[in-house]
Amino acid sequence: MRKKIQFLMSDTGGGHRAAAEAIRQALEERYDADVSLIDVFKDYSPFPWKYMPEFYPWLVKHSKSSWGAGYKLLDSPRTAKTAARGLYMTMETRLKQMFEENPADCYVSVHSVITRPSLSALQSLPQRPPFVVVVTDLVTTPMFWYDRRADRTLVPTQIALDRGMEAQLEKSQMRVVGLPVHPNFIKAIPEKTEARQSLGWDEALPTLTIVGGGDGMGPIFKTARALNDLKMKCQIAVIAGRNKALKEQLEHAQWNQPTHIYGFVKDMPRLMAASDILVTKAGPGTICEACIVGLPMIIYDYIPGQEDGNVEFVVHNKAGAYCPTPVQVADTAADWLADSGKRLRELARAARRIAMPNAVWDIADEIWAQAQQPLVVNEKRNLIKEFQTEIEEFARDYYDALRPSMRRLQVRSRRLTGRSRARARARGRK
Ligand code: UDP
Repeated sequence: MRKKIQFLMSDTGGGHRAAAEAIRQALEERYDADVSLIDVFKDYSPFPWKYMPEFYPWLVKHSKSSWGAGYKLLDSPRTAKTAARGLYMTMETRLKQMFEENPADCYVSVHSVITRPSLSALQSLPQRPPFVVVVTDLVTTPMFWYDRRADRTLVPTQIALDRGMEAQLEKSQMRVVGLPVHPNFIKAIPEKTEARQSLGWDEALPTLTIVGGGDGMGPIFKTARALNDLKMKCQIAVIAGRNKALKEQLEHAQWNQPTHIYGFVKDMPRLMAASDILVTKAGPGTICEACIVGLPMIIYDYIPGQEDGNVEFVVHNKAGAYCPTPVQVADTAADWLADSGKRLRELARAARRIAMPNAVWDIADEIWAQAQQPLVVNEKRNLIKEFQTEIEEFARDYYDALRPSMRRLQVRSRRLTGRSRARARARGRK
């Protein structure tokens, strides 16, 4: 029987939409599924959240260190829960309206921040459809992803599952499936020469492609210029994504080698198939796509916190290198291109070893199974008990948070007392 499946996502970066589109494709190919996507921030959130998709790249660019500090602050189940509750208070009315206007047999969240508030809104109804969470961060997954109320939480790695257990989820509520990548990265991958021909690129030249996620983040221009300065025998493709200013800047520059400039591309599988090296930000979606294609990666940047672990994932598995400056990127690329492809072949093999091509199908199967389930009857809320538990948890957390400082204070005051006693004894002896 046809089932309606509603994805909850937002265009903060390109990864959430890409994950939802990938699963949509798999669901529609395999089942009689009617799938749609909602940008929860843009379409069902009040000011200022509704501008999140536009604001997100600016925020990460201009306050990268604060972003990292924010991640650390919210990297505990309790602080994440408290922050999500604050967010829910501002979004409650609109979220309830969203569920009323978009009935479904199953809701799927592919966005960490949206997960908890959405479940809170659904929990306020007498009954609700099953709710699946598909975690689209790879390793250092934000705690916002994990909510015990979700019926199924599908994670990409064992570390992501361990973090779920830290957040008090039962192991049986979760499953390690991998990160969803669009089926076209497997099925519609052309041969390299054919891909270059169809893109109008030189068929014979070694090719580097630079991409900074859906929003064209990080020092892409400087990195492209550092590669350009080496005057290598190669061609470069630069994907600016939704970053229009970057695209314009790239288009106005002079280049020493054939250089192809794009805005947001819709055919990433073809561009990856045509490339020899991918120079990229540590976006989880892009990394997993490159692994399936067997494309060596040079990571030039990462978003602190949520993408920390992705760098380690690539480097530790020998699928690429981390080069934090444009000059290092250029030198590494020159090195890899210099030895007649041996190094590139090794890196490509390593990338394929960590690819997760079945993830999208396993996720589609899990969602379809949940869509067959009856409505979940919500327990009647006992507000007094909830309040009591909240106060207890709050007190426990703050006690835990303050304990290290209290200990330091105790040690310091003991030392001071010891010193003043010693001084008094010394004075007495005199
Ligand atoms: N992407 C795309 N066209 C572009 C740039 C990026 O389709 O012009 C896709 C890319 O293939 C990937 C996603 O956008 O699927 C980016 O996700 P990732 O997790 O790498 O980074 P984010 O943008 O979410 O930070």
